[in-house]
Amino acid sequence: MPITEMERRQVVVIGAGPSGAIAAALLKRQGHDVLIIERQLFPRFSIGESLLSHCLDFVEEAGMLDAVQAAGFQVKNGAAFAWRDEYSDFDFGDTFSAGKPTTFQVERAVFDKLLADQAELQGVEVRYQQAIVAADFAAAKPRLSVRREDGSEYQVEADFVLDASGYGRVLPRLLDLEAPSNFPIRQAVFTHVEDHIDSPTFDRKKILVSTHPEHRDVWFWLIPFSNGRCSMGVVAAAERFKDKPDDLDACLRGFINETPHLKALLHKTVWDTPARMISGYSANVKTLHGPGFALLGNAAEFLDPVFSSGVTIAMRSASMAAAVLHRQLLGESVDWQKEFAAPLKRGVDTFRAYVEGWYDGSFQDVIYFAGGQPGIRAMISSILAGYAWDERNPFVAEPKRRLRMLAEFCASSRG
Ligand code: FAD
Repeated sequence: MPITEMERRQVVVIGAGPSGAIAAALLKRQGHDVLIIERQLFPRFSIGESLLSHCLDFVEEAGMLDAVQAAGFQVKNGAAFAWRDEYSDFDFGDTFSAGKPTTFQVERAVFDKLLADQAELQGVEVRYQQAIVAADFAAAKPRLSVRREDGSEYQVEADFVLDASGYGRVLPRLLDLEAPSNFPIRQAVFTHVEDHIDSPTFDRKKILVSTHPEHRDVWFWLIPFSNGRCSMGVVAAAERFKDKPDDLDACLRGFINETPHLKALLHKTVWDTPARMISGYSANVKTLHGPGFALLGNAAEFLDPVFSSGVTIAMRSASMAAAVLHRQLLGESVDWQKEFAAPLKRGVDTFRAYVEGWYDGSFQDVIYFAGGQPGIRAMISSILAGYAWDERNPFVAEPKRRLRMLAEFCASSRG
C-alpha cells in the first residue's frame, strides 16, 4: 500500500486512556510537542471504575484536579470487605503515608473523556478514531504507521513514543515484547445496574469487595456511582465458570445468589445492562523501555483488579516516564532502567505480594481478622489507598515477610 504522508512530531502517545492523557499533559506542560493517537471515539466504555487516593496526586500534577473534583463523581473514602458474617473497612483518611483522604468512583467513559479533554485544553493534540498499526524502530527515529477510519494510512516520525494503549498492547505486540503473567487465567463478568440498595449500613463511599462464602478465590466488586447506579462484577478462575450458565447475566446472578449478603443487598436491583466478560487480562512484558519508547499502564503490565490499582499504576508510570523523558528531550543523559523501570516495578511488586496473598487467603485473613490494631490497619490502608511506593511503610518495604508474620498472628489469635 503506498504511503503518501509523513509527519514529524516530538512525542507521540498511543492511546488516550488515563496513562496517555496524564503523560501527554505533563509533557505539554513542560513545553514539549505532544500528539495522542487514539483508536476509539471518546466517550467509550472501559472497566476500572474505583480509583485510589494516590492516582489523584497525578491528576493534580497534570493540572486536572479541579475539573475532576467539579465533575460530580461519587466520593470514595476507603474500601470495605465482606465474607460470610465478617465485615472490615479501611479508611483512606487514616493511612500511614500522608495522602489524599478521599478519591472517586467513576464511570470511566466520562472520566477518561474528561482527562483527554483536559489534556487537549492544555494544548495536546488528540486524534480519535485513528489506530497505530505498525511501528519501525530500526531507523534513527521511531516511525509509526497510523490508519484512519476510512482505511487510509500515514506515518509519523517521532523523537519518542509512549505506548499507553492499555489492553491494545501495541508495542509489546509489534516489537515482540510480550511475556506471560505469572497469575493463572481469571475472568470477570460484570455489568452496570440501577442498584436501589436500601440497607442503612451500606456505605456508598466505599468499594465493597465481597468474598464468595465457599470459594475464597472468587470475589465480587460493587462500586457505587453518584447517580444511583453501580458497577457490579465477579472475578474467578476460568474453571469456576464451568458449572455456570453461558448467558453472562444468568452467570453473574448465579454467583451473586450463592453469596447471601450480596443477594440481600441487591434484592431491589434493576438489571438493565447486558453483562460483559473479560478474560485473561493479566499480562507482562520483557522490558518497559527501549531506544525511542517506553510502555505505560496496562500496555506494560497488568496484575489483577482486586485492589483497584490499575489506574493508579497507569498514572504513576505516566508521571515517572514524563519526568525522565522531559530531561532526555532537553538533551540530558538518562537511565530509563534506573530512573523509570526499576522504581516503578518496586511498587508494582508490592501490589503483587498482596494480590498473591489475597488469592492464597493470607491477606484475606489479615483483612478480615486484623481487628483493632490501628497502626497496622493504617499501614494496610496506605497500600489500599495506592501508596505502594512509600518504603517508609514496613508493609511496603518488606511486603511478603510482613504479610506472612501478620497472617500467622491473625491465624493464631483466631485459634
Ligand atoms: P486504557 O484505559 O485501556 O486506555 C488505552 C487506550 O488505548 C484505549 O482508549 C484504546 O482505545 C487505545 N488504543 C488501543 N490500541 C490502540 C491503537 N492500536 N492505536 C491507538 N490507540 C489504541 N483499575 C482501577 O484503577 N480500578 C478498578 O476498579 C479496576 N477494575 C478493573 C476490573 C477488571 C475486571 C479489570 C480487567 C481491570 C480493572 N482495572 C481497574 C484496571 C484498569 O482497567 C486499567 O488498569 C486501566 O484502564 C489502564 O489504563 P491505561 O491508560 O493503561 O489503558
